[in-house]
Amino acid sequence: MTSVMELVRRYGIDPKRSLGQNFLVDAGYLDKIVAAAELAPSDTVLEIGPGLGTLTERLAAQAGSVVAVELDDRLIDLLRGRFAGQPSVHIVHGDILELAPGSLVGSGDYKVVANLPYYITSAVLRHLLEAEPRPALAVVMVQKEVAERICAQPGNLSLLAVSVQFYAAPRVVLRVPAGAFYPRPQVDSAVLRLDVYAQLPVADVPPARFFEVVRAGFSQKRKQLANSLSAGLSLPKATVLAALGEAGIDPARRAETLALAEWRRLVLALDAG
Ligand code: SAM
Repeated sequence: MTSVMELVRRYGIDPKRSLGQNFLVDAGYLDKIVAAAELAPSDTVLEIGPGLGTLTERLAAQAGSVVAVELDDRLIDLLRGRFAGQPSVHIVHGDILELAPGSLVGSGDYKVVANLPYYITSAVLRHLLEAEPRPALAVVMVQKEVAERICAQPGNLSLLAVSVQFYAAPRVVLRVPAGAFYPRPQVDSAVLRLDVYAQLPVADVPPARFFEVVRAGFSQKRKQLANSLSAGLSLPKATVLAALGEAGIDPARRAETLALAEWRRLVLALDAG
């Protein structure tokens, strides 16, 4: 806590809420995040939002190299100064959403470890999971409710949960109270571990087509599937009913109840018909 406060004071940094700047000041949680990533000296790590560099320094101690992308210009000199003697740490000034992961880490395997800026959580996860190459593993701090939503099972699925579960097996590895951060956020947090599939379980449907149908299914909240799909895909209801029948899915079900395998069957039935 003292070292973070000291850095904040020394550099006159006023944490910006608009950039999601809630610095993790509890060393115990920082260590647990690093442990969850199971780092080895051969690992390349992409860190998003290094902030004051507290997580970065722990990652650098265990991984072979760390590429840390920070958007806030006020933090760049501080970070470059702090890691000047460590050639394995690369500080990149930029917006993670505008940088292709491959351009940052190269074409080999890499892991993502980050205390994410919460205002772009879903966009960052999509950006990473849809990229080529995808990370092999991601350990990310997110808002607790978002972590739980991502790990939901059929019955409580959302577009976000399906978007993540298409690419990775998610689980919550740690809950983190608001008091572990400075400034204290208004929400509790959780560390999510995503074990990214080397082979996607839904392999025979192009992701763009899969998500076109899933998005249509979720487009009208709490509506029965037949209606939301027909509206969202601009298809006659009879066509949608036939595809649902072919896929063995009751048309009265709602999007949040469908497992990924059922979405796959539905897309295949729609495209066969
Ligand atoms: N890693 C530090 C820690 O754990 O204390 C800081 C985490 S803080 C929750 C999020 C960090 O992400 C901030 O340093 C913020 O400036 C940075 N950030 C916000 N938007 C970003 C973006 N689009 N690209 C890269 N970094 C961003």
